[in-house]
Amino acid sequence: MHHNFLFDLDQTLLDFHASERKALEIVLTDCGLNYTEGCYEHFKEYNKLLWLELEKGNISRTELFIKRFSDIIEYCGGDLTNIDVLQLNNDFILTMSRNGVLMDGALEFMRRLTSDIPDARCYIISNGATVNAEGRIKTTGLDKYLTKIYISESMGVNKPSSDFFDIVLDGVAEPKDACIVIGDSLTSDMLGARNAGLTSVWFMPSGDIPSACLKYDINYCASSFNELYDVLLKWAHKGKCN
Ligand SMILES: [Mg+2]
Repeated sequence: MHHNFLFDLDQTLLDFHASERKALEIVLTDCGLNYTEGCYEHFKEYNKLLWLELEKGNISRTELFIKRFSDIIEYCGGDLTNIDVLQLNNDFILTMSRNGVLMDGALEFMRRLTSDIPDARCYIISNGATVNAEGRIKTTGLDKYLTKIYISESMGVNKPSSDFFDIVLDGVAEPKDACIVIGDSLTSDMLGARNAGLTSVWFMPSGDIPSACLKYDINYCASSFNELYDVLLKWAHKGKCN
């Protein structure tokens, strides 16, 4: 048996927003649109709402891609009749995949974790586009610490659905109490872990932490990679939580 660490990817190990900002500027500028910081903030807010709708099952991935780029083109004053929105989305994902950005200290944290817990197996469990996630994992050097990557687009299901976690647990093929979920999102990572009956670490918690921990049955919180390292080491040595 191993200690199986199931890491969310974005805002847990990689800085999704830094990559996104960079890629958005490149593709909008290439379309002849005027990119400003306001563009990115607008895109980010609307995109976040759309991902929540996707998590609830109200829209498809394709609908999300079309809506987010139609909206930003209009925001920038562009003409939708002259732009292939889905192609622009593909260009954006490809550009992002070539511009991975690590969260500060993430690589050193992974190095310490995998060297100090020799039976550690690290996995990525992420909602997102496969090309985008795999490219950023590779360009940042994160891949050398990973046993396997689970990306929702390839799986056809998203966190927090139990189908997503069933596929992951089948692949890991170890008892649930040998697995721990680490992530920043309450609605996908913590809810998914709770529904799957897995131990969870809420990374970089914010807001009303005690009530969130109660609601999502969160086992641990960590506000930095140093804290996360301590929590995971403690969990690994105990073999289970509490
Ligand atoms: Mg995340």
